[in-house]
Amino acid sequence: MSIPHISNWIDGQYTPPSAATIPVLNPATETPLATINTTSAEDIDSIISTSWQTFNSGKWSALDSSERFAVLTKASTLLRTHITDFISLETAQTGRPIREMRAQLSRVPEWLEYFASLARTHEGRVTPFKGPVLNTLTRVPLGVVVLITPYNHPLLIAMKKIAAALAAGNIVVVKPSELAPLSVLKLGKLFKEAGLPDGVLQIVSGYGAETGKYLCEHPRISKIDLTGGFGTYRAIAPVAAMNMVPVTAELGGKAPVCLFPSVDVDVAVKAALFAGFIASGQTCVTGSRLLVHEDIYEAFKELLDKRVRALRVGDPMDEKTQIGSVISAAAVERCRAFVERATGEGGKILCGGGRTTINAEGKGFFFEPTIIETHSTSDLARNEVFGPVIALIKCSSEDEIVRIANGTSYALGASVWTNDFTQAHRVAGRIEAGIVWINGHHLNDPSSPWGGFKESGLGKENGVEAYESYTKVKSMVVNYGVAPVWFDEEVAGARYG
Ligand code: NAD
Repeated sequence: MSIPHISNWIDGQYTPPSAATIPVLNPATETPLATINTTSAEDIDSIISTSWQTFNSGKWSALDSSERFAVLTKASTLLRTHITDFISLETAQTGRPIREMRAQLSRVPEWLEYFASLARTHEGRVTPFKGPVLNTLTRVPLGVVVLITPYNHPLLIAMKKIAAALAAGNIVVVKPSELAPLSVLKLGKLFKEAGLPDGVLQIVSGYGAETGKYLCEHPRISKIDLTGGFGTYRAIAPVAAMNMVPVTAELGGKAPVCLFPSVDVDVAVKAALFAGFIASGQTCVTGSRLLVHEDIYEAFKELLDKRVRALRVGDPMDEKTQIGSVISAAAVERCRAFVERATGEGGKILCGGGRTTINAEGKGFFFEPTIIETHSTSDLARNEVFGPVIALIKCSSEDEIVRIANGTSYALGASVWTNDFTQAHRVAGRIEAGIVWINGHHLNDPSSPWGGFKESGLGKENGVEAYESYTKVKSMVVNYGVAPVWFDEEVAGARYG
């Protein structure tokens, strides 16, 4: 059976296929969906060089902000029109349940709308400069920016970055994950139809260690915005530093879900289910550590066990499926190895614990939703699984919950569940994390800065912070009264500085 090939999108059109290609699998069936290009170092060099010509032409970077607003809002409308196709494609390439992808993708156009509005409304400043001098600060685009995105929310994460970068007037070169690149590769045509000039959004595919590396090491880029693992950040950071290229890094997490006795056990369990098992545990803010106060521990554990066992693992295209596949055989193996190490360290499997299948042929990369009772210093309690294997930890006090919550090298998201108003503020204030939710988990919005502390990242996506990170400040100093008399004879009080 022949499968489609989806090439790079460069200068407003699909390029010819590369000689070597990469297959993209449906992880729920292991059948190939399409092939994509590998992109060589020479091709990257040529793409960056053309992208600079486009930047310098000013056809996007110097466009009036009202015109950038018009293109991005039209792209948002087109995305809404075609969202059903994107939902099916996203489900097929990630193995995530269609109901999740429908809910997630229906909000993606909001990122275009938000950043279009920022482009239109963002204002510069006038400083209180001494004397008859007017000093204006304006923000100008950086140049050619490189976006490197992961497989777990392919379209959402790419769009968060693309929308901010384009709104600010940059030329974007985006490389989606080789594991789930198809929805992003389809964006080129949509933006073209919205009126984006050719060459402003360049979409390339390839392996991270090859194409991703060539992009990040290119000396002519102006910024790298990576969402991925800490190892990937460490691979790109030294060269970026040498080339003086700023990096935004959205990395991994080990989000604690802090559950206090004032919360109804039923609500606590629902919170844990959503935090732990959305996307089969493959989100950076997966609530992978359930820190439960001892006063509700036994009741919580009993109900959690019952609810997790009842979760419907199945075909992601089925509307009733609650848990889809993980992304690959390697992800299944990573989950299995975490379970093995956790039990080796004295952990007790409450439910799940192994690979599972949803059909007689045994195809697809499925792992059971798994809960393991463990202690706070175990491998499972400290390291990111990025799969549906969740640590359950009994805690004796508020202090212990806070201490454990802060006890990993990650600090991205955390949630605090309590009906005690003072406790909510007290605990949220003490937790070290870029995002703390109170009585919620994984709530987000294009206006709300997103990013971690410690090894979870650098810089922010979303909000004014993200927009400004795609610009640099230009200071213009206009003199309307300071005479240039310094080297005249006998000038008293001539101004210097
Ligand atoms: P990954 O780091 O393996 O890959 C991410 C991207 O980096 C891919 O496009 C990949 O091809 C590319 N890449 C890999 N090696 C590279 C290199 N040497 N140079 C340049 N590019 C390279 O991550 P993944 O497995 O796709 O995603 C999972 C990770 O991403 C998890 O750690 C997860 O927590 C994190 N993540 C973080 C956020 C966040 O907002 N903080 C969101 C989603 C995922």
